[in-house]
Amino acid sequence: MVPKMEVKCSVDTCHYWKSKYCHADDLEVNPTGDMVAHSSDGTCCTTFRPKK
Ligand code: SF4
Repeated sequence: MVPKMEVKCSVDTCHYWKSKYCHADDLEVNPTGDMVAHSSDGTCCTTFRPKK
């Protein structure tokens, strides 16, 4: 089973952002930099798309 959850987000420059929540159908988050995350700073929302 694939879990579903509300995603709060404050990235208001993203195409999927609306009223403090993410409205993308699904979300992908990946580690950044050396690809081994040790804190939230080492993670990145890959689904982000800039607002037009
Ligand atoms: S895609 Fe990522 S950055 Fe964009 S609203 Fe959703 S969680 Fe925020």
